[in-house]
Amino acid sequence: MSKVSETTLEIDLRALEHNFRYLKSKLGAETKLLAVVKAFAYGSDMVSVSKKLEGLGVDYFAVAYVKEGVLLRDAGIRTPILVLHPQAVNFDTLIERFLEPSLYSPRILKEFLKVAEAKNQKKYPVHIKFNTGLNRLGFWENDVDWILKHLNGTNAIKIKSIFSHLAASEDENEKDFSLKQIKSFKKSSSELAEKIGYQPIRHMLNTSGILNYTEAQFEMVRSGIGLYGYANDAQIDSELKPVASLKSIISQIHKIEPNESVGYNRAYKSDGYRVIATLPLGHADGIGRHYGGGNTMVLLNGKLVPIIGNVCMDMIMIDVTGADCKEGDEVIIFGGNHSAEDFANSAQTISYEILTAISQRVTRKIKE
Ligand SMILES: *Cc1c(COP(=O)(O)O)cnc(C)c1O
Repeated sequence: MSKVSETTLEIDLRALEHNFRYLKSKLGAETKLLAVVKAFAYGSDMVSVSKKLEGLGVDYFAVAYVKEGVLLRDAGIRTPILVLHPQAVNFDTLIERFLEPSLYSPRILKEFLKVAEAKNQKKYPVHIKFNTGLNRLGFWENDVDWILKHLNGTNAIKIKSIFSHLAASEDENEKDFSLKQIKSFKKSSSELAEKIGYQPIRHMLNTSGILNYTEAQFEMVRSGIGLYGYANDAQIDSELKPVASLKSIISQIHKIEPNESVGYNRAYKSDGYRVIATLPLGHADGIGRHYGGGNTMVLLNGKLVPIIGNVCMDMIMIDVTGADCKEGDEVIIFGGNHSAEDFANSAQTISYEILTAISQRVTRKIKE
């Protein structure tokens, strides 16, 4: 790995390609792959990641909001883009930039129809979302007739896909629940397809779904975290490669005496002679306060050392007592073998959260 000279999030596009091919290898030859690139491609770099995936022949992109789809279109992305959670206020922009909405409720379907008709759209591609148990977004199983009633007499929209989302695809203990969701999805999607008289693309699986419920891949699957190198499973994680590595450097080293304190509120107290190093990143960069207090490790010259005291806005302090280091040395916050999953778990959270938290203030460096 290359050395950095300031806090840097390195984005390894070769790792992305490896993960893309790994996920494809789990799918039938005909199954399409949708890449979820919401939240700046899980905190990495939305444009370079999406361009790379487009070059690899990804079939679809998904983002959460219209604004994110606009960023992709501005960057020249031509692949279809599904907007998972569009807001009615942005429907004009959505149509102008040829983004494809998830229609997840009677209200949002009616709002979209109104705008599509006003803009004289014909067969504008939309995606119907069913709620099969996550109870977050989606039509109910018995809304099919309602949907049909509102599609009859308009050709402003056309159903390009029907989809749903598993609540616990990574949890073996919830297998019965996941199977029940899949069954419910089969029922609503078949009924809808039959009544409209054509077969839209069906998709239900996220990364853990792809790995645990391969039989429910239908015509497409959606992967986010897997593309970025994590799979909620230690075994599979070892076959994937983390795309993002967060690195920083030591700004200053302090030698402190017993019974001194470090940082705000004197949260750390030394029980002996200690050596403390200060790094130029803090909670404004995405390292939340829950990473302080000595439980979370960073990697310094091959040795794991703890983040101590309170995380500041722009700095953290680490205990480097006994470590061979000097000012300017590189510190790996997470990346490589010191995974974002381990880093996150030490603060009772998950890789998704730490990855997407890395703020736009942190320099991104793209490795082709
Ligand atoms: C974010 C999201 C995904 C991606 O899930 P991963 O676990 O990251 O693969 C898939 N589908 C929907 C609806 C999502 O919101």
